[in-house]
Amino acid sequence: MLIGIIGAGISGLTAGRILAKAGHEVIVFEKSRGFGGRLSTRYSNKYDDVRYDHGAPYISGLDSRLYEFLKELEGKGILKLWADEFHFHDGEELYNRHPNRSKTEMFCAPEGLNSIGRYLSRWSDVRRNTKVIGFTYMGDKRGKKKPWMINLQSSEAIEVDAIVVATPAVQTYGLIENSTDETMFKTVIKDIDTVNYRPKHTLMLTYENAPPQDYKGIICANNPVLHFISNESSKRDTGNKLSLAVQSNGDFSKKHIFDENPDDQIISEMVSALRKLFGDWAGKYDEANLKLWRYSQPGNHFETDFVELGSDYAPVALIGDFMKGDSIEHAFASGYELGHHWAKKLTQS
Ligand SMILES: Cc1cc2nc3c(=O)[nH]c(=O)nc-3n(C[C@H](O)[C@H](O)[C@H](O)COP(=O)(O)OP(=O)(O)OC[C@H]3O[C@@H](n4cnc5c(N)ncnc54)[C@H](O)[C@@H]3O)c2cc1C
Repeated sequence: MLIGIIGAGISGLTAGRILAKAGHEVIVFEKSRGFGGRLSTRYSNKYDDVRYDHGAPYISGLDSRLYEFLKELEGKGILKLWADEFHFHDGEELYNRHPNRSKTEMFCAPEGLNSIGRYLSRWSDVRRNTKVIGFTYMGDKRGKKKPWMINLQSSEAIEVDAIVVATPAVQTYGLIENSTDETMFKTVIKDIDTVNYRPKHTLMLTYENAPPQDYKGIICANNPVLHFISNESSKRDTGNKLSLAVQSNGDFSKKHIFDENPDDQIISEMVSALRKLFGDWAGKYDEANLKLWRYSQPGNHFETDFVELGSDYAPVALIGDFMKGDSIEHAFASGYELGHHWAKKLTQS
Protein backbone atom coordinates (compact mmCIF):
# COMPACT_ATOMS: atom_id res chain seq x y z
CA MET A 1 0.00 0.00 0.00
CA LEU A 2 1.02 3.60 -0.44
CA ILE A 3 0.72 5.33 2.93
CA GLY A 4 0.82 9.12 3.32
CA ILE A 5 1.92 10.40 6.73
CA ILE A 6 1.42 14.05 7.66
CA GLY A 7 4.13 15.26 10.04
CA ALA A 8 7.80 14.26 10.43
CA GLY A 9 7.85 14.31 14.24
CA ILE A 10 8.84 11.25 16.25
CA SER A 11 5.29 9.80 16.10
CA GLY A 12 4.93 10.01 12.31
CA LEU A 13 8.48 8.87 11.53
CA THR A 14 8.27 5.94 13.95
CA ALA A 15 5.05 4.71 12.32
CA GLY A 16 6.65 5.32 8.90
CA ARG A 17 9.72 3.24 9.70
CA ILE A 18 7.66 0.26 10.92
CA LEU A 19 5.31 0.41 7.91
CA ALA A 20 8.18 0.75 5.44
CA LYS A 21 9.94 -2.22 7.04
CA ALA A 22 6.69 -4.20 6.59
CA GLY A 23 6.89 -3.57 2.85
CA HIS A 24 4.67 -0.52 2.39
CA GLU A 25 5.61 2.55 0.44
CA VAL A 26 5.63 5.54 2.80
CA ILE A 27 5.61 9.25 1.95
CA VAL A 28 5.93 11.71 4.85
CA PHE A 29 4.78 15.29 4.25
CA GLU A 30 6.45 17.86 6.50
CA LYS A 31 5.65 21.55 6.37
CA SER A 32 8.93 22.75 7.89
CA ARG A 33 12.44 22.32 6.54
CA GLY A 34 13.62 20.11 9.42
CA PHE A 35 13.13 16.55 10.63
CA GLY A 36 11.89 15.65 14.11
CA GLY A 37 9.11 18.19 14.82
CA ARG A 38 9.39 19.38 18.41
CA LEU A 39 12.63 17.39 18.81
CA SER A 40 14.23 20.33 17.16
CA THR A 41 17.72 21.87 16.94
CA ARG A 42 18.56 25.43 16.04
CA TYR A 43 21.97 26.47 14.78
CA SER A 44 23.66 29.61 16.10
CA ASN A 45 23.81 32.55 13.68
CA LYS A 46 27.15 33.59 15.09
CA TYR A 47 29.17 30.53 16.15
CA ASP A 48 29.81 27.43 14.02
CA ASP A 49 30.22 25.16 17.07
CA VAL A 50 27.05 26.26 18.88
CA ARG A 51 23.61 24.75 18.48
CA TYR A 52 20.61 24.59 20.75
CA ASP A 53 17.95 21.92 21.30
CA HIS A 54 15.23 24.52 21.48
CA GLY A 55 12.26 22.12 21.67
CA ALA A 56 12.49 19.19 24.09
CA PRO A 57 15.96 19.40 25.71
CA TYR A 58 16.62 15.67 26.17
CA ILE A 59 15.03 12.26 25.74
CA SER A 60 14.52 9.53 28.31
CA GLY A 61 12.65 6.27 28.12
CA LEU A 62 11.10 4.51 31.07
CA ASP A 63 8.84 2.74 28.57
CA SER A 64 10.65 -0.37 27.31
CA ARG A 65 9.56 0.26 23.67
CA LEU A 66 11.24 3.67 23.67
CA TYR A 67 14.20 2.52 25.77
CA GLU A 68 15.06 -0.13 23.19
CA PHE A 69 15.03 2.55 20.49
CA LEU A 70 17.23 4.86 22.59
CA LYS A 71 19.74 2.04 23.00
CA GLU A 72 19.72 1.54 19.20
CA LEU A 73 20.49 5.26 18.79
CA GLU A 74 23.19 5.12 21.45
CA GLY A 75 24.77 2.17 19.64
CA LYS A 76 24.87 4.23 16.42
CA GLY A 77 26.53 7.17 18.24
CA ILE A 78 23.48 9.39 17.70
CA LEU A 79 22.66 9.61 21.41
CA LYS A 80 24.80 9.60 24.52
CA LEU A 81 23.96 9.52 28.18
CA TRP A 82 23.77 13.13 29.35
CA ALA A 83 22.54 13.21 32.95
CA ASP A 84 20.73 11.16 35.56
CA GLU A 85 19.48 14.12 37.57
CA PHE A 86 19.19 17.88 37.32
CA HIS A 87 19.90 20.75 39.69
CA PHE A 88 16.89 22.35 41.34
CA HIS A 89 16.15 25.98 42.20
CA ASP A 90 13.29 26.35 44.66
CA GLY A 91 12.90 30.11 44.13
CA GLU A 92 15.41 30.93 46.87
CA GLU A 93 18.36 28.59 46.56
CA LEU A 94 20.10 26.27 44.10
CA TYR A 95 20.45 22.58 45.07
CA ASN A 96 22.42 19.97 43.14
CA ARG A 97 19.45 17.62 42.92
CA HIS A 98 15.66 17.70 42.86
CA PRO A 99 14.26 16.54 46.23
CA ASN A 100 11.42 14.49 44.72
CA ARG A 101 12.83 13.08 41.48
CA SER A 102 14.60 9.74 41.36
CA LYS A 103 17.60 9.20 39.10
CA THR A 104 16.72 8.50 35.45
CA GLU A 105 18.89 8.02 32.38
CA MET A 106 18.53 11.14 30.23
CA PHE A 107 20.08 11.13 26.76
CA CYS A 108 21.24 13.98 24.56
CA ALA A 109 22.48 14.06 20.96
CA PRO A 110 25.94 15.57 20.35
CA GLU A 111 24.75 16.67 16.89
CA GLY A 112 21.41 17.92 18.21
CA LEU A 113 18.15 16.11 18.96
CA ASN A 114 16.93 16.63 15.39
CA SER A 115 19.41 13.88 14.42
CA ILE A 116 16.82 11.40 15.76
CA GLY A 117 14.34 12.60 13.12
CA ARG A 118 17.04 12.55 10.47
CA TYR A 119 17.87 8.93 11.36
CA LEU A 120 14.22 7.81 11.34
CA SER A 121 13.59 9.48 7.99
CA ARG A 122 15.87 6.98 6.19
CA TRP A 123 13.02 4.52 5.81
CA SER A 124 10.51 6.89 4.21
CA ASP A 125 10.33 9.36 1.37
CA VAL A 126 10.20 12.54 3.46
CA ARG A 127 9.05 15.62 1.57
CA ARG A 128 10.04 18.68 3.55
CA ASN A 129 8.73 22.22 3.04
CA THR A 130 5.50 20.52 1.99
CA LYS A 131 2.41 21.67 3.83
CA VAL A 132 -0.74 19.57 3.69
CA ILE A 133 -3.98 21.56 3.76
CA GLY A 134 -6.51 18.70 3.81
CA PHE A 135 -7.49 15.43 2.22
CA THR A 136 -10.28 14.21 -0.01
CA TYR A 137 -11.97 10.82 0.01
CA MET A 138 -12.34 9.60 -3.56
CA GLY A 139 -13.64 6.10 -2.84
CA ASP A 140 -13.55 4.09 -6.01
CA LYS A 141 -15.02 7.04 -7.95
CA ARG A 142 -13.72 9.13 -10.84
CA GLY A 143 -11.36 6.50 -12.18
CA LYS A 144 -8.79 7.21 -9.46
CA LYS A 145 -6.53 4.33 -8.64
CA LYS A 146 -6.36 5.15 -4.93
CA PRO A 147 -9.07 6.10 -2.44
CA TRP A 148 -7.50 9.22 -0.88
CA MET A 149 -6.04 12.43 -2.19
CA ILE A 150 -3.75 14.44 0.05
CA ASN A 151 -4.04 18.11 -0.88
CA LEU A 152 -0.91 20.21 -0.62
CA GLN A 153 -0.63 23.96 -0.17
CA SER A 154 1.19 24.05 -3.50
CA SER A 155 -2.14 22.95 -5.12
CA GLU A 156 -0.68 19.55 -5.93
CA ALA A 157 -2.70 16.48 -4.87
CA ILE A 158 -1.10 13.11 -4.10
CA GLU A 159 -3.10 9.87 -4.33
CA VAL A 160 -2.59 7.41 -1.46
CA ASP A 161 -4.25 4.27 -0.07
CA ALA A 162 -4.07 5.24 3.61
CA ILE A 163 -3.41 8.34 5.70
CA VAL A 164 -1.74 8.88 9.07
CA VAL A 165 -2.14 12.32 10.64
CA ALA A 166 0.80 12.82 13.04
CA THR A 167 0.51 16.48 14.03
CA PRO A 168 -0.41 18.29 17.29
CA ALA A 169 -4.18 18.01 17.94
CA VAL A 170 -4.85 21.64 17.02
CA GLN A 171 -3.35 21.09 13.57
CA THR A 172 -5.09 17.70 13.25
CA TYR A 173 -8.38 19.53 13.83
CA GLY A 174 -7.59 21.98 11.01
CA LEU A 175 -6.71 19.17 8.60
CA ILE A 176 -9.89 17.24 9.37
CA GLU A 177 -11.98 20.38 8.97
CA ASN A 178 -10.53 20.72 5.49
CA SER A 179 -11.38 17.17 4.57
CA THR A 180 -14.35 16.54 2.31
CA ASP A 181 -15.73 13.56 4.20
CA GLU A 182 -17.02 15.06 7.43
CA THR A 183 -19.15 12.07 8.42
CA MET A 184 -16.12 9.84 8.80
CA PHE A 185 -14.57 12.28 11.27
CA LYS A 186 -17.75 13.39 13.05
CA THR A 187 -17.18 11.07 16.00
CA VAL A 188 -13.69 12.34 16.74
CA ILE A 189 -13.54 16.00 15.78
CA LYS A 190 -15.33 17.23 18.92
CA ASP A 191 -12.86 15.34 21.14
CA ILE A 192 -9.89 16.68 19.22
CA ASP A 193 -11.21 20.19 19.71
CA THR A 194 -11.00 19.76 23.50
CA VAL A 195 -7.23 19.08 23.53
CA ASN A 196 -5.39 22.23 24.57
CA TYR A 197 -1.68 22.91 24.44
CA ARG A 198 0.62 24.89 26.71
CA PRO A 199 2.70 27.59 25.00
CA LYS A 200 6.35 28.01 25.88
CA HIS A 201 9.21 30.31 24.92
CA THR A 202 12.77 29.07 24.53
CA LEU A 203 15.48 31.70 24.88
CA MET A 204 18.81 30.66 23.38
CA LEU A 205 21.84 32.47 24.82
CA THR A 206 25.58 32.24 24.27
CA TYR A 207 28.22 33.83 26.49
CA GLU A 208 31.89 34.17 25.60
CA ASN A 209 32.90 35.07 29.15
CA ALA A 210 30.71 33.28 31.64
CA PRO A 211 31.97 31.71 34.88
CA PRO A 212 32.20 27.87 34.76
CA GLN A 213 28.83 26.12 35.19
CA ASP A 214 28.70 22.60 36.63
CA TYR A 215 25.06 21.61 35.95
CA LYS A 216 23.43 19.89 32.97
CA GLY A 217 20.01 21.35 33.64
CA ILE A 218 18.22 23.34 36.34
CA ILE A 219 14.54 22.81 37.14
CA CYS A 220 13.12 26.13 38.36
CA ALA A 221 10.25 25.99 40.83
CA ASN A 222 8.28 28.95 42.18
CA ASN A 223 9.60 31.11 39.38
CA PRO A 224 7.05 33.28 37.52
CA VAL A 225 9.23 33.45 34.38
CA LEU A 226 11.53 30.42 34.12
CA HIS A 227 10.80 26.70 33.97
CA PHE A 228 14.00 24.92 32.89
CA ILE A 229 17.57 25.85 31.99
CA SER A 230 19.48 23.47 29.74
CA ASN A 231 23.26 23.77 29.62
CA GLU A 232 23.72 23.10 25.90
CA SER A 233 27.51 23.35 26.15
CA SER A 234 27.49 20.28 28.40
CA LYS A 235 26.13 18.27 25.45
CA ARG A 236 28.81 19.13 22.90
CA ASP A 237 32.11 20.98 22.61
CA THR A 238 31.46 24.71 22.28
CA GLY A 239 35.02 25.86 23.02
CA ASN A 240 35.08 28.13 26.06
CA LYS A 241 31.62 29.47 25.34
CA LEU A 242 28.59 28.78 27.48
CA SER A 243 25.33 28.19 25.61
CA LEU A 244 21.99 27.87 27.34
CA ALA A 245 18.48 26.99 26.14
CA VAL A 246 16.14 28.55 28.69
CA GLN A 247 12.49 27.54 28.77
CA SER A 248 9.85 29.87 30.11
CA ASN A 249 7.12 29.10 32.56
CA GLY A 250 3.90 28.28 30.66
CA ASP A 251 1.83 30.98 32.42
CA PHE A 252 4.41 33.58 31.48
CA SER A 253 4.18 32.56 27.80
CA LYS A 254 0.39 32.46 27.90
CA LYS A 255 0.37 36.05 29.13
CA HIS A 256 2.59 37.16 26.22
CA ILE A 257 1.29 34.97 23.42
CA PHE A 258 -0.83 37.65 21.77
CA ASP A 259 1.60 40.56 22.26
CA GLU A 260 2.14 42.42 19.01
CA ASN A 261 5.88 42.85 19.06
CA PRO A 262 7.01 41.02 22.15
CA ASP A 263 10.45 39.53 21.43
CA ASP A 264 12.60 42.26 22.99
CA GLN A 265 10.35 42.50 26.01
CA ILE A 266 10.31 38.73 26.54
CA ILE A 267 14.09 38.44 26.14
CA SER A 268 14.57 41.24 28.64
CA GLU A 269 12.17 39.69 31.22
CA MET A 270 13.74 36.23 30.86
CA VAL A 271 17.29 37.62 31.09
CA SER A 272 16.39 39.64 34.15
CA ALA A 273 15.02 36.43 35.77
CA LEU A 274 18.34 34.72 34.93
CA ARG A 275 20.31 37.58 36.51
CA LYS A 276 18.34 37.12 39.72
CA LEU A 277 19.33 33.45 39.68
CA PHE A 278 22.97 33.65 38.57
CA GLY A 279 24.12 37.24 39.07
CA ASP A 280 25.02 40.10 36.73
CA TRP A 281 27.08 38.04 34.28
CA ALA A 282 23.84 36.47 32.97
CA GLY A 283 22.88 39.83 31.42
CA LYS A 284 26.11 39.99 29.39
CA TYR A 285 25.33 37.55 26.60
CA ASP A 286 26.88 37.62 23.12
CA GLU A 287 24.00 36.03 21.22
CA ALA A 288 20.27 35.79 21.95
CA ASN A 289 17.48 34.15 19.93
CA LEU A 290 13.92 33.53 20.97
CA LYS A 291 11.46 30.88 19.80
CA LEU A 292 7.78 30.73 20.71
CA TRP A 293 6.18 27.26 20.73
CA ARG A 294 2.43 27.76 20.58
CA TYR A 295 1.89 24.04 21.14
CA SER A 296 4.68 22.73 23.36
CA GLN A 297 2.85 19.94 25.22
CA PRO A 298 -0.83 19.01 25.53
CA GLY A 299 -2.67 19.71 28.78
CA ASN A 300 -5.17 16.86 28.30
CA HIS A 301 -5.26 13.76 26.15
CA PHE A 302 -7.06 10.82 24.54
CA GLU A 303 -7.15 7.46 26.35
CA THR A 304 -6.02 5.36 23.38
CA ASP A 305 -2.65 4.92 21.63
CA PHE A 306 -4.17 5.98 18.30
CA VAL A 307 -7.51 6.64 16.63
CA GLU A 308 -8.43 4.61 13.58
CA LEU A 309 -11.15 5.69 11.16
CA GLY A 310 -12.36 4.80 7.67
CA SER A 311 -12.57 1.34 6.19
CA ASP A 312 -9.95 -1.38 5.76
CA TYR A 313 -9.90 -0.37 2.10
CA ALA A 314 -9.16 3.31 2.86
CA PRO A 315 -8.01 3.68 6.46
CA VAL A 316 -7.05 6.87 8.32
CA ALA A 317 -5.28 7.05 11.68
CA LEU A 318 -4.55 9.87 14.08
CA ILE A 319 -1.43 9.68 16.23
CA GLY A 320 0.80 11.98 18.31
CA ASP A 321 1.72 12.97 21.84
CA PHE A 322 -1.89 13.74 22.75
CA MET A 323 -2.61 10.00 22.63
CA LYS A 324 -2.49 8.72 26.21
CA GLY A 325 -0.18 11.49 27.43
CA ASP A 326 1.78 14.62 26.69
CA SER A 327 5.39 13.71 25.98
CA ILE A 328 7.98 12.23 23.64
CA GLU A 329 7.35 8.86 25.24
CA HIS A 330 3.63 9.00 24.35
CA ALA A 331 4.30 10.29 20.83
CA PHE A 332 6.71 7.40 20.23
CA ALA A 333 4.32 4.82 21.70
CA SER A 334 1.48 6.15 19.55
CA GLY A 335 3.49 5.81 16.31
CA TYR A 336 4.90 2.46 17.41
CA GLU A 337 1.52 0.90 18.23
CA LEU A 338 -0.20 2.18 15.08
CA GLY A 339 2.77 1.10 12.96
CA HIS A 340 2.66 -2.47 14.28
CA HIS A 341 -1.14 -2.62 14.11
CA TRP A 342 -1.23 -1.55 10.46
CA ALA A 343 1.86 -3.56 9.54
CA LYS A 344 -0.09 -6.66 10.57
CA LYS A 345 -3.52 -5.65 9.36
CA LEU A 346 -2.74 -3.96 6.04
CA THR A 347 -0.13 -6.49 5.05
CA GLN A 348 -2.70 -9.29 5.44
CA SER A 349 -5.55 -7.53 3.55
C1 LIG B 1 9.96 23.67 24.41
C2 LIG B 1 9.50 22.24 24.52
C3 LIG B 1 9.91 21.47 25.61
C4 LIG B 1 9.50 20.14 25.74
N1 LIG B 1 9.96 19.40 26.79
C5 LIG B 1 9.67 18.08 26.85
C6 LIG B 1 10.21 17.25 27.86
O1 LIG B 1 10.98 17.72 28.73
N2 LIG B 1 9.88 15.92 27.87
C7 LIG B 1 9.05 15.38 26.92
O2 LIG B 1 8.79 14.17 26.95
N3 LIG B 1 8.51 16.15 25.95
C8 LIG B 1 8.81 17.48 25.88
N4 LIG B 1 8.28 18.25 24.88
C9 LIG B 1 7.24 17.67 24.01
C10 LIG B 1 7.77 16.75 22.93
O3 LIG B 1 8.75 17.42 22.18
C11 LIG B 1 6.58 16.32 22.06
O4 LIG B 1 5.61 15.71 22.88
C12 LIG B 1 6.93 15.34 20.93
O5 LIG B 1 8.14 15.68 20.31
C13 LIG B 1 5.76 15.33 19.95
O6 LIG B 1 6.02 14.52 18.83
P1 LIG B 1 4.89 14.36 17.71
O7 LIG B 1 5.41 13.49 16.66
O8 LIG B 1 3.61 13.98 18.36
O9 LIG B 1 4.61 15.84 17.16
P2 LIG B 1 5.62 16.92 16.49
O10 LIG B 1 7.01 16.72 16.96
O11 LIG B 1 5.00 18.26 16.74
O12 LIG B 1 5.55 16.58 14.95
C14 LIG B 1 4.50 17.02 14.13
C15 LIG B 1 5.06 17.50 12.81
O13 LIG B 1 3.96 17.77 11.95
C16 LIG B 1 4.31 18.89 11.14
N5 LIG B 1 3.05 19.45 10.61
C17 LIG B 1 2.05 20.05 11.30
N6 LIG B 1 1.05 20.42 10.46
C18 LIG B 1 1.44 20.03 9.23
C19 LIG B 1 0.84 20.13 7.93
N7 LIG B 1 -0.36 20.72 7.75
N8 LIG B 1 1.51 19.62 6.85
C20 LIG B 1 2.73 19.02 7.01
N9 LIG B 1 3.35 18.92 8.22
C21 LIG B 1 2.70 19.40 9.31
C22 LIG B 1 5.04 19.80 12.12
O14 LIG B 1 5.85 20.76 11.44
C23 LIG B 1 5.85 18.79 12.93
O15 LIG B 1 7.14 18.60 12.37
C24 LIG B 1 8.66 19.58 24.73
C25 LIG B 1 8.26 20.35 23.64
C26 LIG B 1 8.68 21.66 23.53
C27 LIG B 1 8.26 22.47 22.32
